[in-house]
Amino acid sequence: MKKLCGLLVGLAMVLTAAGAAAETVAGLPVHVQKLGEGIVRVWVGDHISSTATTAFATQKGILVVDTTGIPVVDRALRGVIARELGRDDFTTLVNTHEHGDHTGGNAVYADCEIVGHELVAAGMNEALADRDRVLQWYATGIPEAEARLAALPADDPSLPSLREDLALDRLNRDVLLSGEHAPPPTRTFADRLTLDMGDTTFELYYTGGMHTASDIAVFVPRHGILMTGDTMSDRWLTDTPGCLASFIARPGVRHDFPKLLKNWEYLAQQKDRIRLLVTGHWNGELSYDGFAARVGYVRALWDGVQAEVARGATLESLFATFALDARFPELAQSPGFNRNNHAMTLMELWTVTTGQTSAADRLFALIDEGAGEAAVREVVASRGAEPARYFFMEGQLNAYGYRFLQAGRAPQAVAMFRAYADLFPESWNAYDSLGEGLLAVGDTDGAVAMYEKSLALNPENTNGRDVLARIRGGGATAAQ
Ligand SMILES: [Zn+2]
Repeated sequence: MKKLCGLLVGLAMVLTAAGAAAETVAGLPVHVQKLGEGIVRVWVGDHISSTATTAFATQKGILVVDTTGIPVVDRALRGVIARELGRDDFTTLVNTHEHGDHTGGNAVYADCEIVGHELVAAGMNEALADRDRVLQWYATGIPEAEARLAALPADDPSLPSLREDLALDRLNRDVLLSGEHAPPPTRTFADRLTLDMGDTTFELYYTGGMHTASDIAVFVPRHGILMTGDTMSDRWLTDTPGCLASFIARPGVRHDFPKLLKNWEYLAQQKDRIRLLVTGHWNGELSYDGFAARVGYVRALWDGVQAEVARGATLESLFATFALDARFPELAQSPGFNRNNHAMTLMELWTVTTGQTSAADRLFALIDEGAGEAAVREVVASRGAEPARYFFMEGQLNAYGYRFLQAGRAPQAVAMFRAYADLFPESWNAYDSLGEGLLAVGDTDGAVAMYEKSLALNPENTNGRDVLARIRGGGATAAQ
């Protein structure tokens, strides 16, 4: 499993008399950053990508943006905020999005109005349904991390970071084991909402689609602060960027690009009123230019993909038309961008525009659940059907086959590679991959036939030639 987004700190608040440097929560250092008069940003950890909670003192009480997701930490940080602001009249909590490392501490602010997008609750429920799988991951992941730590010399430079990771994993596991559920927002909105806090107004804008379905931006004109949650960052302060590591229109995330762009572009127009952009995790920084470039990227793709589709473009031609390096050179090397993320965004925009979904995704799901030959055939046979229900990406089909292979599920890998070869009969790489799968299930004759086919299509396939030579030399095994 991919590392869970976010998460934080530890048990038992150890407050020293004077606060400051030696203050820790569960062994993790507490950080306090002043963003202005009556505004503090707090978080824990030096190495982990933990959520930062920002608090504003207003005429109508303290408004807090986001929790760390671990109630024991949030309780301690609530105390730190009260001390730093010299008051404890908390009235409002805002969730920038649904992720547990932002909403998981909502119970600590149950005495406040909790404000968030109307899709936050659904996202929180989905995460709840995933609880057992996550616990299973911790059951093996935590002992593995403990063993790794124990094996390292005391002066290993990676120790401090690994220790914090482990502390965080343990805390998150304990949150799940406790069975406590965080309450969802008590006040929700769909597009925009203004919170009147007397001397300070907070403008909330729905920006969902590039991180979760429920992302919002929080603009505080009085202080010139724009908070962008986990949607983006153009500079990382650690080598563990966590949630901020990607800027992607992910499959399965509910997108509303027109609304997202309307709100983002409005905010981008407030350039002269924005003094500081604040990301959802302490270790990300965002410049106005980085923000504007990302807004421009989504606008260019959203308009561009629709125009290209109307002109009869294929998905393959889109990849060429919107090549990351050539079209968005200012972003190609920027945090959150790489060819893979960009490809995922293009595919998702293609899906949103055409209604077509990935055949590779469908095949992977079918084979994964053991749906059988006929179901797989049906997807393969649908290629060329009008209107098209799926799009077919060679690289995805191949990657899914290897995912099965790496998971030790060779028969499933063979099924995936076979579908790949059926869909792309002119692809030498498909037969090369299928050959590898067949070797893994012990079908040497079948593998030889596939490698020969691959070499016939591409005599330059040195891997195929090497494998064939090994087989003929009697050295081939299922482990090849
Ligand atoms: Zn997040």
